[in-house]
Amino acid sequence: MRERLLLCTDMDRTLLPNGDATETPNIRAKFSALCHLPEVTLVYVTGRHKALVEEAIADYRLPQPDYVIADVGSKLYRVEMPTWHEVPEWLTEMNQAWQGYNSENIIPLLSRFDQLELQEPSKQNSHKLSYYVPLTIDQAPLLTQISSTLKQHKIQANLIWSIDEALEIGLLDILPSNATKRHAIEHLRHRLDFTPSEILFAGDSGNDLAVLSSSIPSVLVNNASQEVRDEASQLTAQANNTEQLYLAQPTQNDNGNYAAGILQGIWHFHPNLRLHLQALGVEYDPEL
Ligand SMILES: [Mg+2]
Repeated sequence: MRERLLLCTDMDRTLLPNGDATETPNIRAKFSALCHLPEVTLVYVTGRHKALVEEAIADYRLPQPDYVIADVGSKLYRVEMPTWHEVPEWLTEMNQAWQGYNSENIIPLLSRFDQLELQEPSKQNSHKLSYYVPLTIDQAPLLTQISSTLKQHKIQANLIWSIDEALEIGLLDILPSNATKRHAIEHLRHRLDFTPSEILFAGDSGNDLAVLSSSIPSVLVNNASQEVRDEASQLTAQANNTEQLYLAQPTQNDNGNYAAGILQGIWHFHPNLRLHLQALGVEYDPEL
């Protein structure tokens, strides 16, 4: 049977060279050429919403994906240019976790928390509710209270807390508990009937760690921070998945950053695709 690859990649600082590290010249064009092979099903896995994914595809001349897992896992689209179709089964799963509630009708349940300020409409969707929270307040008790309010309504949610350093403000995302990158990738795998070893995930940062350290074959791009590298190695070892994580590195061919790291991951996990890589001038040590 022909080799198949379900290539699932994070966007910012994994495929998009928008970090401090440099990108090997021409490497994204080679990545695109590889993605055009009929063997490859390309999936973008990202915190971005649809409009920002489309913007990145245009700005960075990225190949059109077959699927997009967007808004931190809360949306799954099948892309059939020029149309993005929301996958109905995924929407059903999100609805189940939230007991039929959507963002709009969760807002009134949280109205008594006056420290919460709704983010802009573009940052919300039916199953992602996002607020700004001042950094001056103690967030732990607030998050506990929000959680218990949601639980009273049987809403299964994950609260994701982060900080926008530039704006000096807290960000709170409320998502269905099953809206994770990993679960969405597994959902796609079953839907498209791929085996576990036919997946490759590529990531660079903390929000990729759950997939990087799982049994899903994964590559951590070389521009990842030392901290993420250490944490990924440690979590992977704890879960006995060391064989399933490849750490991209500088080679004679490229620096292992961004798209170069992804190509190394393909070389490492999919020897049957090496001839295609070599045809594009991408060649590594056979033992890589
Ligand atoms: Mg990233």
